[in-house]
Amino acid sequence: MKDTSDALLSRVFGFTAFRPGQREIVEAVSEGQDTLAIMPTGGGKSLCYQLPALNRQGVTLVISPLIALMRDQVRALQELGIAAGALTSGNTEGETAAVHEALARRELKLLYMAPERLASGGTVDLLRRAGCSLIAVDEAHCVSQWGHDFRPDYLRIGELRRTLDLPLAAFTATADAETRAEIIARLFGGQAPQVFLRGFDRPNIRLNFQVKNRPREQILTYAAARKGQSGIVYCGTRARTEALAQALVTAGHNARAYHGGMEADARRVVETLFQREDDLIVVATVAFGMGVDKPDIRWVAHADLPKSIEAYYQEIGRAGRDGAPADTLTLFGPDDIRLRRAQIDEGLAPLERKQADHGRLNALLGLAEATQCRRQMLLSYFGEESAACGNCDICANPVRLFNATTPVRKALSAVLRTGESFGAGHLIDILTGNATPKVRERRHDALPTFAVGKDLSRARWQAVFRQMMGRDLVRPDPERHGALRMTEAARPILRGEAEIHLREDSVTQARERPEPRALVSEEDAPLLSALKAKRRELAEAAGVPAYVIFADRTLIEMAEKRPMDLDAMARISGVGAAKLERYGPVFLAVITGAMPSTPHPERRKLAGREAGALYDELQQIARELERGADGTEKLLTLSPACLRAIAEARPSTPEALARLRGMDAARVERFGEALLQRLHMV
Ligand code: ADP
Ligand code: ZN
Repeated sequence: MKDTSDALLSRVFGFTAFRPGQREIVEAVSEGQDTLAIMPTGGGKSLCYQLPALNRQGVTLVISPLIALMRDQVRALQELGIAAGALTSGNTEGETAAVHEALARRELKLLYMAPERLASGGTVDLLRRAGCSLIAVDEAHCVSQWGHDFRPDYLRIGELRRTLDLPLAAFTATADAETRAEIIARLFGGQAPQVFLRGFDRPNIRLNFQVKNRPREQILTYAAARKGQSGIVYCGTRARTEALAQALVTAGHNARAYHGGMEADARRVVETLFQREDDLIVVATVAFGMGVDKPDIRWVAHADLPKSIEAYYQEIGRAGRDGAPADTLTLFGPDDIRLRRAQIDEGLAPLERKQADHGRLNALLGLAEATQCRRQMLLSYFGEESAACGNCDICANPVRLFNATTPVRKALSAVLRTGESFGAGHLIDILTGNATPKVRERRHDALPTFAVGKDLSRARWQAVFRQMMGRDLVRPDPERHGALRMTEAARPILRGEAEIHLREDSVTQARERPEPRALVSEEDAPLLSALKAKRRELAEAAGVPAYVIFADRTLIEMAEKRPMDLDAMARISGVGAAKLERYGPVFLAVITGAMPSTPHPERRKLAGREAGALYDELQQIARELERGADGTEKLLTLSPACLRAIAEARPSTPEALARLRGMDAARVERFGEALLQRLHMV
């Protein structure tokens, strides 16, 4: 069985290896065991029933809640050369007839069905006649009556399984124990299936928080660095989605707003566009979620803080399902904290529930104000231990801490001496000795705390208050317009029994952001755009989403490895036999044809000069050595800026070469000798 699965994985799907956990599930499902697999979004659940379907006799029934997505899945399978069809209310008569014929001839390997269809009488008969041998249930948590995604028709699946007496494989990303128990009870009739539980980590998603300063500008800057990539911006209010979408369009992006107040049709248009296009930004309220099943979302930004750590994890989790690098940015500030606290306090939930909600918000605020690896903290919330990740803003730029015990005590004292009746702005006026009319009117300039905090700037005091709110030492009182009240957690610090260290950040510092991570090196970027343009052209002609032709990561690998013939093309991950035949030659032509495309701007600066010809020769030398002299080493390239610097400066020693922009020790070692030789030919 093992060899068959490996062979199918590479021949049909074009993948070089299973993702973690996939192999075990594929084997259990292929053997016809009842299984429940819980994997994070993007973990690769579909493959865990699609591959076994090919392994098994007969047709596999796939039940999935979203009709629009089902069609795309079927198209994607057909592109892989797999006989798949769907029976949904969205079909044309012709499509339905074709599926029935294929079923009658027993040609189909996968049949997708909407849950509504289970209610119709003929379904059991149809499946019997078609030789159905396995039931796969996607989004199995839809069977849970307490969840947000409850689908009453999912309750019929258990009965279908009993009647047909078939093995059932259920998949979900929702892992909590209650939901799991409900799935087992309702889908498997209480008979425990084999359960596979994959960890929560999504290592390709970069975690990033930023103090909210000028949110519109922050989001625009962030999007500008990711131009042409698909993204989602989540906002707290409907009005904000429209304003931000407009600003993005003005800045030259392909962007749309999406929120619950829009007509259903208008919402569907945005969902479809998003699914199809590879560069659309959707600016949405959380209403945009369940209908999104797009593997190539390259980034998710929160213009406003999410409501809990669970919501945060789910929302950023929509990025990068294809496994290629994905970025996230979450903005947060005192206003967000006030708003989220107020929403909880003003809600109708019982007190106990409100306390739990404050707790889940606290967990998110803790993450926002983290002083160590964010992923470690996030995973530990979900009960997983891990090492520092190297893929979050804190790992990239460790934060400096300072002992804030004294400032925090001063702040708490200001809170208490003013009767817990004021917000941060007024308290900071008192602490910094700013005798505003309001301060004088209330005689707060006579307090012993007046001006005791002159040593810190206003911006630093703001950072202190924000972090105090983030750590729930002070909490805005919803009944008094956000006046800050001290919480029990602050008492030990006030009494001098505990110390506290806070982040040394200020708003200005927080605004400097790590460089956007380009998907490929500067040198490969033009080729990647050419490949994407070709993909878009093919996708539009076929009326399918771009990723159905090839995933981003497949194009990225093509741009980096530059296969020069079909054999090399076949080794690219995501290029299976069917796609190789259909698309291999077209993409190969892009790669071979586009090689000496329009010159890079750095090269153009040298046009007509002697250094220009030299640049071309140096570039050729660098290309020949990019995988080492024997072609087996790690890929190293020289950027156009670096080549230009060499062509102009003509260094004569390895040391001089090493000082040029874009050079480093590894590059000097790889290219130095050959470059210097060319530079000093007589
Ligand atoms: P989810 O678990 O969220 O349902 P999908 O099944 O949609 O995830 O898979 C997400 C992406 O990962 C898809 O683009 C799929 O083609 C890709 N994928 C799945 N398995 C592998 C693998 N073994 N190697 C490379 N890519 C994979
Ligand atoms: Zn980290």
